[in-house]
Amino acid sequence: MKNTDPRESFSTALISWYLLNRRDLPWRENPTAYRVFMSEVMLQQTQASRVVPYYERWMKKFQDYSMVASACMDTLLLMWEGLGYYSRLHSLVNACKHIVKNHRGIFPSDYQEAISLPGVGPYTAGAVLSIAYNLPYPALDVNVKRVLARYCDIDAPVDRGPDALYRNKVLFFMPPGKAGTFNQSVMELGALCCLPRSPRCSECPVKGDCLALSRGSLEHRPRRVNRIHPRKRKILVAVILQNGNVFLRRRLKGGLWPGMWEFPHWEWDEDSGDEAVALQNFIFREHGMKPVFRNLLPSITCSYSGIRAIMVPFVFTLNTSQEIRGKDVYWSERSEIINMPIPSTHRKIADIVSFAR
Ligand code: SF4
Repeated sequence: MKNTDPRESFSTALISWYLLNRRDLPWRENPTAYRVFMSEVMLQQTQASRVVPYYERWMKKFQDYSMVASACMDTLLLMWEGLGYYSRLHSLVNACKHIVKNHRGIFPSDYQEAISLPGVGPYTAGAVLSIAYNLPYPALDVNVKRVLARYCDIDAPVDRGPDALYRNKVLFFMPPGKAGTFNQSVMELGALCCLPRSPRCSECPVKGDCLALSRGSLEHRPRRVNRIHPRKRKILVAVILQNGNVFLRRRLKGGLWPGMWEFPHWEWDEDSGDEAVALQNFIFREHGMKPVFRNLLPSITCSYSGIRAIMVPFVFTLNTSQEIRGKDVYWSERSEIINMPIPSTHRKIADIVSFAR
């Protein structure tokens, strides 16, 4: 007989589907709070398949909060390199220190204490508390909101305004005692079936009651507020060579990619005149050097933090020994660059430089 309670029919069909169809991901084995927390931070803004090798390497090296809290930052940055959004890593390390110092090395089971940890917001707190401790908190990410916007045919924009409406929907459908499995089921449906562009409704376990599907409003769900696309930026990158070594500087704390190494670079605009000259002037202002322009390397297009940029690498040589201005600067041997933590936007240039003759 068909289950007529809308809460139960949704959660029962969804959980049965999840148990049969879920992906085999390493953080789903033995989901302790530590393992779930590490995976959730890595998964922010990053696809699961990309996170797997990072997660496995991380779990081999750091088995608990205290090992992360006491690790050398260069080692952590190197292990994180390529995952992007490095402020996540710094917050993660601070959260581990906090857990070791104030919670005896155990992720707090109290929601308010959990969201007080550095870098932990409602989503991460809800995911860890529900998956590791089976506590009834929603874990509201874009996948979950998309599924609910379609299943319940919600017209409110998903990317603006408070999340209370979506949070209440999760709590409405969440079956008692199954918070973790339910949250993961909704997320998995969004990742495998209720896809952003072409949802696979014929394979969906809840298609019979999906309102957007039955009302024909699918192409308008989830509704989004129009976004303004950012203009593409042009970043001039200075690859300065001296006796075969490469000039690098360390990024400051508090910005993007804190503590990582990078090439000096500068955003060009149409009023700046000749690019090579403008970059030379910048190098002189920042580091007191007057290197000579040699040649260009191939440009690289990249995206980071909502910015689209074209990176244009200029190779300069510095023949004389000159006093260099700036703290945390370093002449790296080309072969050494591979072992230095460098943001992925600069890594592609570093690879060209380290293999060039
Ligand atoms: S029927 Fe289609 S739109 Fe509705 S929840 Fe399932 S996959 Fe998403």
